[in-house]
Amino acid sequence: MSDSAESAAGGGGLIAGSAAESLGDQAFRSDELHGRKPEMTYGGALSFLRRRYTRDIADADIVVSGIPFDMATSNRPGARLGPRAVRAASTGLAELDAYPFGFDPFDYLAVVDYGDCFIDYGHPTEAVERIEAHCAEILAHDAQMVTFGGDHFVTYPILRAHAAKHGPLALIHFDAHPDTWPDDEGRLDHGSMFLRALQEGIIDPSASVQIGIRTHNDDDYGFTVLGAPWVHRNGPAAVLEVVRERVGDRRAYVTFDIDCIDPAFAPGTGTPVSGGLTTAQALEIVRGLAPFDIVGMDVVEVAPAYDVSEITALAAATLAHDFICTQAVRAGAPASPLGLT
Ligand code: MN
Ligand code: MN
Repeated sequence: MSDSAESAAGGGGLIAGSAAESLGDQAFRSDELHGRKPEMTYGGALSFLRRRYTRDIADADIVVSGIPFDMATSNRPGARLGPRAVRAASTGLAELDAYPFGFDPFDYLAVVDYGDCFIDYGHPTEAVERIEAHCAEILAHDAQMVTFGGDHFVTYPILRAHAAKHGPLALIHFDAHPDTWPDDEGRLDHGSMFLRALQEGIIDPSASVQIGIRTHNDDDYGFTVLGAPWVHRNGPAAVLEVVRERVGDRRAYVTFDIDCIDPAFAPGTGTPVSGGLTTAQALEIVRGLAPFDIVGMDVVEVAPAYDVSEITALAAATLAHDFICTQAVRAGAPASPLGLT
């Protein structure tokens, strides 16, 4: 356990060994991109996991940002408020060494919060261009992106920017919906963008896996689809085995639509579907992603207005936090003693 974790856990009190005036609000007060210092869980300036809010990302390994856009949603709107809710929910994960990993991921990775992509709500058709430019600016540096939506359509311009840098990508896609329904190739629609991404050649369906699907589509378009019933019957380890077979050592992008998780565990979303994964199943799969060459990750469709006790935002924050831990393992942190990585 690191010194700060020990003090946060109560070993001598929050501010033991530190001057109280230097603590708190690290999002704008600390220039140090590594490690952590005590914060009031319930107060202080919000950023994701209390990381430094900055656009100076030259030394960053992972750049977190939000894309508060939800004008491509087909049912209940509100995912534009997702990034804000996820940042608030993340404060409880920023206090102790990561469970079950047993280390502070920020000892191994410099992670910053870049803030949100600015999109004029009066010009929604500019969203693709704006989001792609936002991503390209970050990807011009040697950093991975972790991004919070927004509705799932935001992943389309994110993928375009990533593919421009890395070439066609394998997609590891968590969702209740395949998001490959056909459209007129011009719509802003959170249900069709992966078919368009496939048609544009920026993702390779033969190397891609869709996990937790439980809505009908006539065609799988070559994706390997692991429906939610399959996941319930076979379990997270079997899911990771299929990911190993399909994705292998290909460069991959992870997109997590929070509605992959059952409405019992993630009610705060626009298009909930019964019969989904538990948060525990989803976390176990995400914690097993360390072996893969993942260039970026997003968590989308968190709509806090439908949430209860912040459970959806907390699930989203934990998924991203645990993904960051898998990248810390790739950067030299010890693999989990529970054998999850
Ligand atoms: Mn989706
Ligand atoms: Mn969905």
